[in-house]
Amino acid sequence: MNSSQKLTKLQEAKAEVLSLLKILSDKVDLERKLGVNYLQLDPIIKDSTSYEENVTSQPSIPKSVCDNFNTYNEVGKVELCKSEKIEELKKLEEQVRKCTKCELCNNRTNVVFGTGDPDADLMFVGEAPGYYEDQQGEPFVGKAGQLLTKIIESIGMKRGDVYIANILKCRPPENRNPNANEIVMCSPHLIRQIEIIRPKIICALGTFAAQTLLDTKETIGKLRGKFFEYQSTKFLATYHPAYLLRNPDDKKKVWVDIKKVRDFLRECST
Ligand code: URA
Repeated sequence: MNSSQKLTKLQEAKAEVLSLLKILSDKVDLERKLGVNYLQLDPIIKDSTSYEENVTSQPSIPKSVCDNFNTYNEVGKVELCKSEKIEELKKLEEQVRKCTKCELCNNRTNVVFGTGDPDADLMFVGEAPGYYEDQQGEPFVGKAGQLLTKIIESIGMKRGDVYIANILKCRPPENRNPNANEIVMCSPHLIRQIEIIRPKIICALGTFAAQTLLDTKETIGKLRGKFFEYQSTKFLATYHPAYLLRNPDDKKKVWVDIKKVRDFLRECST
């Protein structure tokens, strides 16, 4: 093959890749419009059968004694009762513990799945585990976690009353920011957690949680303190407690934001 034929072949291959990317991008757009909020990752997942059943499929409706008590929310998806939520979270956690979808699995001490009341009205979503979280397998147990506990207590709740999870379930080296691939690979786990728990309100802590769940590049300074919806669930973002440790003057703003969360929950219960 001479060089001009090679060039033609290369151009043809490039055109084919571009057209495949276009098809893929159209498919993702269409699925988003249809409300598919998780990624179809079956070919990437090693243990595809169980992952597909537990993570990438629409929430299954387990046959159990609780079926009689299931209720439907406004978008028509089945809401699980507490024991079903516990069961589904347990199944999901088993899958996440085996996850090797990104390189963070190589250096983790523990997967940090999430903690708290599976039936919580309020769910906090942070960024990623740090050193202490990786050591203990629990989110927000370091200094930032102590501040988060104070924030929760400031609205008359206890840590055990809420559910706490992160966008990433494994610690990035040296606590660096999550990268795009890690977020894409890991966020289906969080999305499924939210589907199971169905909190009344999600409070995103910091840039990564807010931007990922709202699918925006807007800054946390602009996003914080306003109500949004994430998949028909009320959503409010505020500053990350680690940021507050470095910028204590902004604690006032978080106090304003968290009071909005408290008032929303009060309204829900009246
Ligand atoms: N920062 C986070 O975003 N999550 C944790 O679990 C700990 C610190």
